[in-house]
Amino acid sequence: MTDVVIPLADLRYAAQVPAVPALPLPASGLLADRLGRPLRDLRISVTDRCNFRCSYCMPKEVFDSQYKFLPQSSLLSFEEITRVARLFAAHGVTKLRLTGGEPLLRKHVETLIAQLAELRTPESRPLDITLTTNGSLLKRKAQALRDAGLQRVTVSLDALDDGIFRRMNDVDFPVADVLDGIQAALHAGLAPVKVNMVVKHGTNDDQIVPLARHVREHCGPGVVLRFIEYMDVGATNGWRMDEVLPSAQVRQRLHAAFPLQPLDPSAPGETAERWRYADGGGEVGFISSVTQAFCSDCNRARLSTEGKLFLCLFANRGHDLRALLRGGYSDEQISGAIGLVWGDREDRYSELRGSGAPAAAGGERRVEMHYIGG
Ligand code: SAM
Ligand code: SF4
Ligand code: SF4
Repeated sequence: MTDVVIPLADLRYAAQVPAVPALPLPASGLLADRLGRPLRDLRISVTDRCNFRCSYCMPKEVFDSQYKFLPQSSLLSFEEITRVARLFAAHGVTKLRLTGGEPLLRKHVETLIAQLAELRTPESRPLDITLTTNGSLLKRKAQALRDAGLQRVTVSLDALDDGIFRRMNDVDFPVADVLDGIQAALHAGLAPVKVNMVVKHGTNDDQIVPLARHVREHCGPGVVLRFIEYMDVGATNGWRMDEVLPSAQVRQRLHAAFPLQPLDPSAPGETAERWRYADGGGEVGFISSVTQAFCSDCNRARLSTEGKLFLCLFANRGHDLRALLRGGYSDEQISGAIGLVWGDREDRYSELRGSGAPAAAGGERRVEMHYIGG
């Protein structure tokens, strides 16, 4: 029996227009939220559409031919995205990640990348620009993305076995094309390429060791495989705890095949716990958002395809920056509004979930991941 899924199109629009301070202070780059967390990482969803239907993200039963994706006029233009990103950089953001939906479906996304590559931090350094993709179009686009200024890429890949992969993407897409996309990314100079595998207990957990072996043997240390715990994002994927395979168990299985040693985190706020193969065969990561919350140093904000700012992956409300962008407000005013929104942030959904406390306010449904970006 399949779980009942409920379409939630209207809730995409739950957002409030942020208050604009009468006398905005200039951005200092030192913004902190109520829990003292800085703002460093902005994830930008460039489309809510996708050519895959991974059941943990966009189940076919909901995202079918009747589903109303956002109209073109709702999407932020490249100029609007670049303007917002520039204001965020002044507030301390050093890293931009393009995501979606499938970001490579957004027409001329490399033009956006070229615009973002022109941005600088207050210390005049370029921003770190990266992108998360399902890899289906990467073989064709890797070089153009690199030429436009993309520095790295993360590819989602849930299985090495072609049958399992086709079932998980649910559009019968062959794994060989994604593997070719990873090679194209390496060839274009987009290393280190991160490969993200969402592990669903009973669906693809038998792929942990084969995928690791493939990466070790065919990709080398330029590819870092990361295992992600299946999360209760959104409200349509019918998430169940018994389908989560805790990272500790994933690591045990991997360690039995290829002994591992722990590594220190490379940056504060990093989502993945890093390990390396004892034989020097490269590095792997474990993202344990369910069993080991990492909210205490979460420095990420998310900008939806239509310009709503979300402060947590599990939020149920956004802050409508597009209303300000299209409402004639100045950079100083919008920057001031962003400062107020972040300063008021106290989201820590995963920690609350882990402690058994009610995590989402008001029982409202959470925003979907393909809309705010992973
Ligand atoms: N379409 C692109 C892709 O798949 O890489 C980018 C967007 S996708 C929403 C970003 C990331 O979110 C992917 O790595 C995907 O595996 C992950 N993701 C989606 N739903 C998830 C869930 N329920 N639990 C854990 N990760 C999830
Ligand atoms: Fe598409 Fe990525 Fe979601 Fe899969 S995880 S349905 S590829 S947006
Ligand atoms: Fe950040 Fe929210 Fe995830 Fe916690 S649950 S790490 S606050 S996005």
